[in-house]
Amino acid sequence: MNQNYKACMTPCYIVQEAALQHNLEILKGVSERTGCKILLAQKAFSMFAEYPMIGKYLSGTTASGLYEARLGREEMGGEVHVFMPAYPEAQFDELLTISDHIVFNSFSQWRKYRGRVMEAKAAGREISCGLRINPEYAEVETDIYNPCAPGSRLGITCDAFCPDELEGIDGLHFHALCEQGAEVLERVLAAARERFGEWFGRMKWINFGGGHHITKPDYNIPVLERCVKQIQEAYNVQVYLEPGEAVALDAGVLVAQVLDIVDNGIKTAILDTSAACHMPDVLEMPYRPPLSYDAAEGVLTAAGRAGEQAYTYRLGGPTCLAGDIIGDYSFDHELQPGERLVFGDMAIYSMVKNNTFNGMPLPAIYRETPEGELILVKQFGYRDFKERLS
Ligand SMILES: *Cc1c(COP(=O)(O)O)cnc(C)c1O
Repeated sequence: MNQNYKACMTPCYIVQEAALQHNLEILKGVSERTGCKILLAQKAFSMFAEYPMIGKYLSGTTASGLYEARLGREEMGGEVHVFMPAYPEAQFDELLTISDHIVFNSFSQWRKYRGRVMEAKAAGREISCGLRINPEYAEVETDIYNPCAPGSRLGITCDAFCPDELEGIDGLHFHALCEQGAEVLERVLAAARERFGEWFGRMKWINFGGGHHITKPDYNIPVLERCVKQIQEAYNVQVYLEPGEAVALDAGVLVAQVLDIVDNGIKTAILDTSAACHMPDVLEMPYRPPLSYDAAEGVLTAAGRAGEQAYTYRLGGPTCLAGDIIGDYSFDHELQPGERLVFGDMAIYSMVKNNTFNGMPLPAIYRETPEGELILVKQFGYRDFKERLS
């Protein structure tokens, strides 16, 4: 536990560079041993202050739209890939100037933009186009995170595939995992090969998408490497992986303070951080963020589930939303206003999704150097709230 967590402003995100580097070493090892290229999926983590460092380990970025593509181009360099379910006309010309790989979600999108891609190529832009396929197989239980649920709009199904329109297509892309292991990838890959394998050999690259929990301690890296090598050798293609979560998994915290304690039948600590504004996935996913220690005391309190320890509190945000609840946790002491709580695994899908609902201030962003020093990267204020309104 870093004593500096007592002095930082709250609420704030602190990205821990030692943990980030640890993840990046693991990812780099996979690419070195297999020859696959790994990209940062920026939708999970877009803290561009860290891009120069990330760029030393990974081959580039992937984007879910124009602005992420531009951020990747400006701040990291390397390869810039983009996928959108459909490209707005007005954005496509700019995307052509920024992107190295453009992945289309349908043959109608490919038909629509093929001519503009060819023109850009003729003018000297090196652009590689691909199609997102839907292997119609996934093991994701929550439907909103399952791109292969029946009727999903994401990816071309086998029935909708038009093999006679592949001229100009260099790659196939699938994304069917969510926080999953290499064994699931193996089964998804088998489904993808069964449906689309006859076209793999005509490609230059195959992109396995994201959702690989590669940096999780129990992840089976040898199985991943076997999948990558098998495909590269069988079809003579370059394999890409584009994890988001795995890049910054467990590499950051959110530090908050207790503002007040109320007891209306349930003992509740009201914090200066909001689930709805600063950790929306807690409500959306939903999940329970780990809360492992008390920074004010500088001791490990290992906050437990409700009732596990002597003092149970519901932790709530400062907004007017009744459901702005982080969860019920128990502690070995009574919480006091002013006390600090440190939520774990808050680098991913946190600052990229936060918002200023209720006029909530956005958390400051610090980086924690491997030596434990906290460096304030950005602080937000009233202008950030006002400027996105009119
Ligand atoms: C969400 C997504 C990713 C990253 O997923 P993680 O679960 O963060 O690894 C990569 N590629 C595509 C197409 C995605 O939609």
